[in-house]
Amino acid sequence: MTTTPTSAPIRPGTPLSLFVLGEGSDPRSERGVECPGDLPPASDPALVERARRAKAALGNRLFVLGHHYQRDEVIQFADVTGDSFKLASEAAARPEAEFIVFCGVHFMAESADILTADHQKVILPDLAAGCSMADMARLAQVEDAWDVLADADVADVTVPVTYMNSSADIKAFCGKHGGVVCTSSNAKTVLEWAFERGEKVLFFPDQHLGRNTAVLQMGMSLDDCVLYDPRRQGGGLTAEQLRSAKVILWKGHCSVHGRFTPQAVDDVRARIPGVQVLVHPECQHEVVLKADLIGSTEFIIKTIEKAPAGSRWAIGTELNLVKRLALTHPHKEIVFLEQHVCYCATMNRIDLPHLVWALENLASGHVVNQIVVDRETEHHAREALQRMLALPGETTKD
Ligand code: SF4
Repeated sequence: MTTTPTSAPIRPGTPLSLFVLGEGSDPRSERGVECPGDLPPASDPALVERARRAKAALGNRLFVLGHHYQRDEVIQFADVTGDSFKLASEAAARPEAEFIVFCGVHFMAESADILTADHQKVILPDLAAGCSMADMARLAQVEDAWDVLADADVADVTVPVTYMNSSADIKAFCGKHGGVVCTSSNAKTVLEWAFERGEKVLFFPDQHLGRNTAVLQMGMSLDDCVLYDPRRQGGGLTAEQLRSAKVILWKGHCSVHGRFTPQAVDDVRARIPGVQVLVHPECQHEVVLKADLIGSTEFIIKTIEKAPAGSRWAIGTELNLVKRLALTHPHKEIVFLEQHVCYCATMNRIDLPHLVWALENLASGHVVNQIVVDRETEHHAREALQRMLALPGETTKD
């Protein structure tokens, strides 16, 4: 663990405590943390006014970032909305802002801390807002995997590529090992860059983005990809399988996008004649194969903006964004692709009471929930981010 202000250094591989969210606290982890002081009740009718007042009191010292998957009650206070990479870049472009309040999840706040100046403090209103996908690749596991690759004599010819949705120490691992970060918009460009430098790619944490990019955008076959399971000895793969693979996919996924099913695509096509299915590349390969269009959240938003009135869309991404798109485009029919998928639980940890609590504390001179990436991790993570930034094309994501 590389962040949180009060934390003693956590040893790689230390198991995460299993606290019920919001109950009990573990200073070594973002899980189950409590907010010191008074957290306003969600029923407080004055919350909107309190948030406005605290924001006004902080003025230009404050910049509030809102990820597309955030609730409306929070998004209304965002100075800018976007995907995680766009938000981190926006924060970096505002050095006058002393406090960057990141309404998103932990890895996003870490990236903002890496890309902003030293005098800027990045605040995550609820430290329990993590990302289950990012948690699926922990540094100790990735280091073990690298040893497995070395034992199979392939580490030297493998380039590690991590999705933006990963912790800072995983990005730093990539920085140290000649690797790079990718987003869902530039994954193909990044993989091409990696294959100019090595024979294989170790791609984490999202198997689906890696597989969809390798197979659908780069023309590889499913047999060129193998799945490395960090919970199994040697990743559950033989040395021979590692030697013959081109892309070694980490067994991780998004708990929201991973739940869309091919059946849901068939059902919506039967239910809504002429519907176009638009999904995020974090969805399973079988779902993406059945969709009409695939792309990042920014791509999804732009596609809907450009769509003609009367067009019909079933969208496979987080529910808050789909709901907002449906509300802002009343002359287009927009439905959620899957009836059994819910909000991103960790994104939804950021609610109005936590935002008010964070803003009021900042306004009264108490810095709470600051996300600080240690210098060494920051240095190597920035290397991996800068390799991505040097590549041509758009860099938007999740
Ligand atoms: S939507 Fe998926 S990838 Fe995004 S924060 Fe939630 S769990 Fe993580």
